[in-house]
Amino acid sequence: MIQRLLILILLPLVLSAAKVDYLRWDNGMTYLSFLAKHDLPSRTLYWNLDSEDRKLTEEIYSGVRYQILRDDNATAIQQVLIPISDELQLHIYQDRKGKYVFEAIPIIYNTKIQSFTTTITSNPSSAIYDATHSKRAMSAFISGFRKSINFALHVQKDDPLVMIYDQKYRFGKPFSMPRLQLAKIRLHGKWHGVYLGADERYYDAKGHEVEGFLLVKPVKRARISSGFTKRRWHPVLHKYRAHLGMDYAAPRGTPIHAAGAGTIIEARRSPSYGNVMKIRHADGYMTLYAHQKKFRAGMRRGKRVKKDEIIGYVGTTGLSSGPHLHFGLYKHNRAINPRSVIQVTTKKLTGKKKKQFDNIVKHYDEEAEMILASNKQAERFFDFDPVCYVKHDDFGEGAERNETVRK
Ligand SMILES: [Zn+2]
Repeated sequence: MIQRLLILILLPLVLSAAKVDYLRWDNGMTYLSFLAKHDLPSRTLYWNLDSEDRKLTEEIYSGVRYQILRDDNATAIQQVLIPISDELQLHIYQDRKGKYVFEAIPIIYNTKIQSFTTTITSNPSSAIYDATHSKRAMSAFISGFRKSINFALHVQKDDPLVMIYDQKYRFGKPFSMPRLQLAKIRLHGKWHGVYLGADERYYDAKGHEVEGFLLVKPVKRARISSGFTKRRWHPVLHKYRAHLGMDYAAPRGTPIHAAGAGTIIEARRSPSYGNVMKIRHADGYMTLYAHQKKFRAGMRRGKRVKKDEIIGYVGTTGLSSGPHLHFGLYKHNRAINPRSVIQVTTKKLTGKKKKQFDNIVKHYDEEAEMILASNKQAERFFDFDPVCYVKHDDFGEGAERNETVRK
């Protein structure tokens, strides 16, 4: 049998008879309350889904931009698209018989490597912002040096900097966080650099890890029973799966520790994540702890917690097949792999890894030289007309159109 493909086409609004609303997810709105508000059937769109799909509905975050597509009369909802990570979105649509269907589908994007040099007029932040018009690129550069350089003390006018990063684009607009590859700045005539290593961690030119936000393990001596995956195609179920966190299997009642210092922003019971707690940390990070047996006494919304403080106990509440902690890590509301941030003992590269890293440094330094020599400028971001993504059954199996953006 020919595998059923998702048929996605891009339809400029002018060609569309249907009406698309671009909305922001209200703070406090749950997926179930969203369905109720729009008279969408919760039985087919939630209760009859398998547990993995139901858990995905927990990943909708407040403030996310989502779309509702209605028919010509702007009454019945034809489709809803809600991103839950930078790779996956929930898609609700009416099939030909008018029955509503739920699925998780990929977000199609492309990635572009950006690189540029600029000189400082007052401080690195404004220099990067002036060059790129991207606050996120600015924050990626600055956070790379947070622990090592006090810019306020050392930066002088006309100091040069170089940056290489990749950025995801959707419909021609940047989305999600840029991934820093190289940040270099010359201060008092000396270059300082932050380099992306092969292990997705950051190091200075000598191979010492640059400390950013580092977490402690939320459950000690636990086995990781399921790792993080942004999306994968399940060949048997014929659908997309995602696991936006890491599972730690441990006996019921095992203490759960706050992975970092922060403030509890949610401690509640949800149908799929059971007793679930969210902690907000510095620099746009958030951690999530699901399926808890119970919260530790006094752990409620608004409470500040210290790094490694006990916040609750391992359980199997919600949709869970056995006692474990589902641990999620988010940066600016996007799920990221906790593995890249959990503290490890090795902070300095040695031996073979160091040799490999030296090659990376050499490669980036050569690129930086070329960027400086050609005085390469940053591409700025432009706004494009809003366009919408719809599934269309009439374009034949296998038809998939790429994003082409009207300019
Ligand atoms: Zn999990």
